[in-house]
This record gives sequence, structure tokens and C-alpha cells, in this order.
Amino acid sequence: MVYALTEEQEALRGQIRQMALEKVAPRAAEIDREGVYPWDMQKLLAGNDLLGLAIPQDYGGSGASLLTNCVVAEELARTCATTSLIFVVQKLAAYPIVLAGSEETKKKYLPRVASGECLASFCLTERKAGSDAGATQTMAKAVDGGYVLNGEKCFITNGGLAEVYSTFAMTDPDKGVRGISAFVVEKDCEGFSVGHIEDKMGLRGAQVSEIMFEDCFVPEENMLGGRGEGFTVAMKTLDNSRPLVGAQALGIAQGALDVAVDWAREREQFGSPIGKLQGIQFLLADMKTQVEAARQLVYRSATLSDMNHPDLSINSAMAKLFASDVAMKVTTDAVQVLGGYGYMKDHPLERMMRDAKVTQIYEGTNQVQRVVISRRLLGKI
Ligand SMILES: Cc1cc2nc3c(=O)[nH]c(=O)nc-3n(C[C@H](O)[C@H](O)[C@H](O)COP(=O)(O)OP(=O)(O)OC[C@H]3O[C@@H](n4cnc5c(N)ncnc54)[C@H](O)[C@@H]3O)c2cc1C
Repeated sequence: MVYALTEEQEALRGQIRQMALEKVAPRAAEIDREGVYPWDMQKLLAGNDLLGLAIPQDYGGSGASLLTNCVVAEELARTCATTSLIFVVQKLAAYPIVLAGSEETKKKYLPRVASGECLASFCLTERKAGSDAGATQTMAKAVDGGYVLNGEKCFITNGGLAEVYSTFAMTDPDKGVRGISAFVVEKDCEGFSVGHIEDKMGLRGAQVSEIMFEDCFVPEENMLGGRGEGFTVAMKTLDNSRPLVGAQALGIAQGALDVAVDWAREREQFGSPIGKLQGIQFLLADMKTQVEAARQLVYRSATLSDMNHPDLSINSAMAKLFASDVAMKVTTDAVQVLGGYGYMKDHPLERMMRDAKVTQIYEGTNQVQRVVISRRLLGKI
């Protein structure tokens, strides 16, 4: 089965492409150089109703399919990965609330997240609980009317900028991963603070930080799902978000291919364009083939998410794994097509190469995706 887009999705792709070329592309290098969160890009996305694209209409969003969201993430990443991350993380962080929040919780938080009035964060990773997310050490102790959180998270995108944090903490340590619960925590809650802000290789405009909880009281009604259901909420969220990371990787790869093709047409050596050299032609042909293969896997996994299909988990892991490896390979090869120029900051490829790397790491490293895939393949042995 081939996953083609509808006319509406193609039209949206065209609109996002236009907007990205006019408003995002001119800022991309500057965002990377300055390393400061680009609020102008956040406002651009919010102003075009994109931050609520994935959020149901009942809660202020557009309720668009994940496939549609993937097209948007892809087109934004084609010019600026940081800007696409603003879009991707808002969806990632809102999803636990959409999935498991009570009606009141959804009404309280989702409209503000959908409009972009506030940013949201997904707060899972800890220093000692990275790939092993079930090893969460942040504790949530039951008290009168709610829970008191103590612990530290790390590598949290939008950390300190977001007002709403979908947070995972241990309520019942003796139950292992079944003792983890999910909560919405507000930034202005007493005992909440922001720690070290990371200095990163890529996605330089994104803010990624530690988040600390010190006797941070969270009311009972802010629990997402039942007590002990947090790990399931986190895993379901990742299954439904990995296609978007795949789309982001795909967009970075497509953007690098665009630059490489233009260069191969223009750059002359030995008296003619380097695109006439078979060595360059074959490199470009392989890049294009990998990009199209990644596109099919990403669209397929997004479609399975939209269908609520039981095979989503393995497919979203394959999509994220393949597309991010393609992004790394294609950006590296694109630098090669530009030769020395590709290595210089005057051209966007070295930025794209740095930005591509993180797609192999976050939302589960690509080794972890292989664990997910092989577990499904082999079952219990
Ligand atoms: C820029 C950035 C933004 C991020 N944003 C967020 C965010 O918003 N929210 C959030 O919660 N987290 C976020 N993360 C965290 C990210 O999801 C973790 O970094 C990732 O899951 C890996 O965890 P770790 O860094 O602790 O690596 P580790 O788990 O220490 O892994 C180290 C190495 O060991 C390998 N490894 C580990 N376990 C296995 C295994 N079972 N089999 C084979 N190999 C294995 C890994 O693949 C990796 O190569 C972000 C990370 C980055 C870099």
C-alpha cells in the first residue's frame, strides 16, 4: 500500500512551503547562530493556527490527522529544524493530556496550548532514566488533595519556557513501571524550578533544560489517567509522536537534497557542471531514493496512528529509525556534494547535518527503536 496525500494535504504542503520560504528560511541561519529561542517563529506558527493542529476541535485545536501534522513538520524542517521542533513538541507534550486527561483538565489546558498562548513540555527523561525510562526516580507522594513531587528531569525541550509540563513520576516504587503516574504540572507551582540550560550541537534555537521538583504540590485532578498508568501514557504518546520525529528527519533530508541538487547544476569544475559527473549523479540518485523510502515509512506510520492500528508501535519505530538514519546520511552526502563549501557556515548544510543528528537520539535512540522492532518481531523467546 502506497501512502499518497489527499489534494487538501498537498495544498497545505504548498502553503507551508510558501510560508517557510518567505518567513522561516531567512531566519534559519540566524536562529542557529544566536542560539536563542525564536519567539517570532512560535508566533508565526501560532498565528497560522498550527500549534493546535493535532489537538481535537472540542479543545480549541483543528483535530487534523497525524499524517497532516507530518506534512507540516516535514515542510518546516526542510528549511529550519528548530522551527519544526516548536511544532513537534507542542503536539508531543499535549498528547498525554489529550489521551488521558479528565474533561476538566483538557478544557483547562488544551485551548491555551492549541492557541500557542502557552508552550508545553514533555517531562520524562532523568539523568539515571534515559533509554530506561521506567527507572524514573522522581517521586510523587500522595498527600491530602494531591501529590507532592520531588526529583529532577533533564534534557526537557521548552524547559523553562513552557507553562504546562506533562510529567512522569513514581507513585508506587514497589510496582516498577506500573508504579509510574502522569501529571500536568504548571510552571508557577511552588517547588518547580529550572536548572541547567543545555548548550547543544544542533537545534540551537530550542531551549532544553533540567527541571527540578522540590516538594512541588500537584492537585489530584492533575493526574493523567489512573494511578500507575503513567508509563503506558508515556509509551502511547511516543508511539504517536515518533512519526512526527520521522517527518522532521525527512524534512531535514529533503532540505539537504534540495541544496545539493541546485549546487550540482550550478557548480562547474573541469569545464562543466559537477552534476554531469556520474559520481555526483549516483550520489544524488541514492539520496533521492532514500528520502522517498523514508517518506513512505513516515506516512505509513502516521496513517496507522490515524487508524488506531495495533501495529502502530513497530511501524512508528521503523519510521523514526529509518528516516533519522536517512537524514544523517543524506545531510552528510549533501555536504560532500558541495565540497569545501558544504563545510562552511555560509551554506546551510553543516547546520542541517548537526540538526539531523538529534533525530537519531530523542524520543528513544535508534538502538531503542531496534529493541522495539525486534521485540515485536520475535515475541517472547
Ligand atoms: C536535544 C534533545 C532534546 C530532548 N528533549 C526531551 C524532552 O523534551 N523530554 C524528554 O523527556 N526527553 C528529552 N530528551 C531526552 C532523550 O529522549 C534521551 O536523550 C534519549 O532517550 C536517550 O537517553 P540518554 O540520553 O540518557 O542515553 P542513554 O540511555 O544513556 O544511552 C546511551 C547509549 O546507550 C544505548 N542504549 C541504551 N539502552 C540500550 C539498549 N537497551 N540496547 C542497545 N543500546 C542501548 C543508547 O542507544 C545510546 O547509544 C531530549 C534529548 C535531546 C538530545
